[in-house]
Amino acid sequence: VARALRDPSLLVSKAYLAGEWVGASDRTFAVTDPFDGALLAVLPDLGPDDTRRAVAAAAAAQKDWAKRTAKERAGVLKRWYELVIENAEDLAAILTAEQGKPLAEAKGEVVSNAAYLEWFAEEAKRIDGEIIPGANPAQRILVLKQPVGVCAAITPWNFPNGMITRKVGPALAAGCTIVLKPSELTPLSALALAVLAERAGVPKGAFSVVTTTDAKSFGLEVTKNPTVAKITFTGSTAVGRWLMREGADTIKRLSLELGGNAPFIVFDDADLDAAADGALLSKFRNAGQTCVCANRIYVQEGVVEAFTRKLLERVATLKLGRGSEEGVTLGPLINTQAVEKMERHLSDALGKGAKLLTGGRRSDVAPTMFEPTVVAGVTQDMILTKEETFAPLAPIISFRDEADVIAMANDSEFGLASYFYARDMKRILTVAEALQSGMVGVNTGALANEMAPFGGVKQSGLGREGSHHGIEGYLELKYVALAGL
Ligand code: ADP
Repeated sequence: VARALRDPSLLVSKAYLAGEWVGASDRTFAVTDPFDGALLAVLPDLGPDDTRRAVAAAAAAQKDWAKRTAKERAGVLKRWYELVIENAEDLAAILTAEQGKPLAEAKGEVVSNAAYLEWFAEEAKRIDGEIIPGANPAQRILVLKQPVGVCAAITPWNFPNGMITRKVGPALAAGCTIVLKPSELTPLSALALAVLAERAGVPKGAFSVVTTTDAKSFGLEVTKNPTVAKITFTGSTAVGRWLMREGADTIKRLSLELGGNAPFIVFDDADLDAAADGALLSKFRNAGQTCVCANRIYVQEGVVEAFTRKLLERVATLKLGRGSEEGVTLGPLINTQAVEKMERHLSDALGKGAKLLTGGRRSDVAPTMFEPTVVAGVTQDMILTKEETFAPLAPIISFRDEADVIAMANDSEFGLASYFYARDMKRILTVAEALQSGMVGVNTGALANEMAPFGGVKQSGLGREGSHHGIEGYLELKYVALAGL
């Protein structure tokens, strides 16, 4: 991949710790391409002492960073945003190499998530406090918004670039500093972003990238270390629960973006072409490896045949292959465990009476590739309606009426995203209100953008990323009672 880069210095084999680039020493780990296992980089495998050092440096840097004017902090973030856009091709190439998604999708991830840096650069200047009338004429209530302090971020492999900007952007905008642990499977995008952050003028220590395969030690260090005020995490619900438990001793502030089990509902008044387009996008983007992917496709009885035909036509156009190849629209899964999980979900469904309409087997293209698969006749007792499959497997479940589908859609411990297609206005409002999820896509299969509050309810998480709400998790309110006036 280095040969393909305009700026090869963006591909780094060092961690970024307390403002220094730290090379590999005794303990290292390899980063490989999920398509063919090719070696991309060897990185230092850091331990809890290194994390502690990064946290101490973040605490030292935070004092000065928080004192800068909002305009100065905004300026640094804006420069970082511009550098990401200028280097989007290279960042996309690095992302595809370590994660596998098609290059056009990778470029989309880089550009659309750079927007969080731009957005929070702008929001930095709008962290407004309040003056509230006092309890008596000699009092006023002053409300200040102050940075929470040192933050730790833990990010997953499915959006190795985008998950960084939506956490580090608001943290730095608010006057916090941040220590990041990217997924050990995809740390290269985070390091490339750190190179650009340094060039943009993010001060030494204000942003560190700890590369490690020992996620648990990192988790223990940042949950127990009293200097860390807040943890922001995107990943599985199991790890989210664990962080909450471990962080209880030090009352950690938490933002958690956890698992989903998104229902995608097609009503009989829907535009079926639009619904099939939306389902294709929502289900097969990133080979089905997003937390907001349609996991269960519910289609009203009268249109199930027509919709299924339209979806199958679209699935047939998907081109499998190496993400960097021209025209490829479906890349590999992250590893063979992901393929095995898909196989488990599929065989459970087929064993319980689901019908295979297309796909159903591993692809010959690469060991981590599975053919895009559609199954019909799915029922609520199959594993794939309960757990996130995180793979290119689309289950179709038919339903009778609104009440029927709302009950099935809400029958989940998760509540991240849901989608539905309909035209009737009354239906649109009542269904949007009834679905138990933090986000609802109505006649769209795409939800995330920097101007919208992204996040879940139920066991899908806490807090929101993006929009003017997205900075609040990095701020504390301080009430100042002004008396004797
Ligand atoms: P996924 O299924 O997306 O891999 P994980 O929750 O396992 O979800 O991983 C998301 C991120 O959380 C990764 O960066 C991973 O290394 C990290 N992680 C996993 N276990 C822990 C842990 N005990 N403490 C802190 N981070 C963890």
